Amino acid sequence: MSEEIEKLVLLGATGSIGESTLEVLRQHRDRMQIVAVACNTNFEKLLAIAREFNVPHVAIYDENAFSKAKNSPNLPSGTNLYTGMEGLLQLVGLPGVTHSLFAMVGVTGLRPALAAIEHGQKLVLANKEILVMAGELITRKARQNGASLIPADSEHNALQQCLLSGKPEEINRIILTASGGSFRDTSTDEMSKITPDQALQHPNWDMGPKVTIDSSTMANKGLEIIEAHWLFDIKPEKIQVVVHPQSVVHSMVEYIDGSILAQLSPPDMTFALQNALFYPNRYKKVSETIDFAKILKLDFQPPDEGRFPCLRLAREALDAGGAAPAAFNAANEVAVDAFIERKIGFLQIPKIIESTLKQIPSTHPENLQEVLDADQVARNLAKSYIEELV
Ligand code: MG
Repeated sequence: MSEEIEKLVLLGATGSIGESTLEVLRQHRDRMQIVAVACNTNFEKLLAIAREFNVPHVAIYDENAFSKAKNSPNLPSGTNLYTGMEGLLQLVGLPGVTHSLFAMVGVTGLRPALAAIEHGQKLVLANKEILVMAGELITRKARQNGASLIPADSEHNALQQCLLSGKPEEINRIILTASGGSFRDTSTDEMSKITPDQALQHPNWDMGPKVTIDSSTMANKGLEIIEAHWLFDIKPEKIQVVVHPQSVVHSMVEYIDGSILAQLSPPDMTFALQNALFYPNRYKKVSETIDFAKILKLDFQPPDEGRFPCLRLAREALDAGGAAPAAFNAANEVAVDAFIERKIGFLQIPKIIESTLKQIPSTHPENLQEVLDADQVARNLAKSYIEELV
């Protein structure tokens, strides 16, 4: 047992990342204590988590759900209940917090992340938007405040592990693996008819709806290219994407001597989350890993950027710099929502992103407000393109 128990704030406790985190912490209660949990609306599930893990501080972002939780018979007595952005900031600011885990969807995590950085915490990042929208600002503030950014996304966590084998100047390239999503072998013709129900099925991973759709358009991998650039300070041209349908090799690093190092584990988020939560220490696994007594096939193929233009668009946004990656993210979110609502077709998602990127003013956000403004401008543009289409 470690001398001092780590203290975790878990933001986004009720989603699939939250569930995997709890699976890890159930087996490692003596190493890390959950001092605060937050969710958006699913308060019943959150209160059950609070009871199971004896969590004293609980935030429900949505005010309606918060009011219901306040009067719920399932609210453990003595719980401190919070709501809204102010509530999230209070959780992150609790005394003694060592780690905050960001597993929320969308832009909501940005302000709490900056607050956690100001407190010099270890930020475990499963929330892509934080680095995609504000990579420059977040990495600069983290350096200034001695905060660490630890990736929990399976690809970036794999890279972090592989990067321990060499020095930064010895890296030749990093290779992000992609499952290729549900439509990796679907022709463009058939792709035009894809329905939201089809796009919400993922062959390997069990994730939330937004990430699953992003995986099927490969926008997810585009966001991950941007994230990798900021996390590891790697030039975009040194980041390669390879389709690997089995999702067992989570990413690779090629060094200048030609050696390629990979990290392997089953497509199960407990591996990456456990590594991130306890980084750089390793403890006993909570799920079964790969069994080589059984047949295991690993395939790799180059991605088809013709059928998956979101990859190219993400690279263009990263090259353009400034507010462009935030605009890529915002336009994609708006387009995915419109697709789920059946307002636009599957192939129109990249078209909305492309039109938005062409029109956004070239700005370089310096602070949180400017990032949020750039996000809003891109959202409005994307919405106006969707209105033209419907
Ligand atoms: Mg990923």
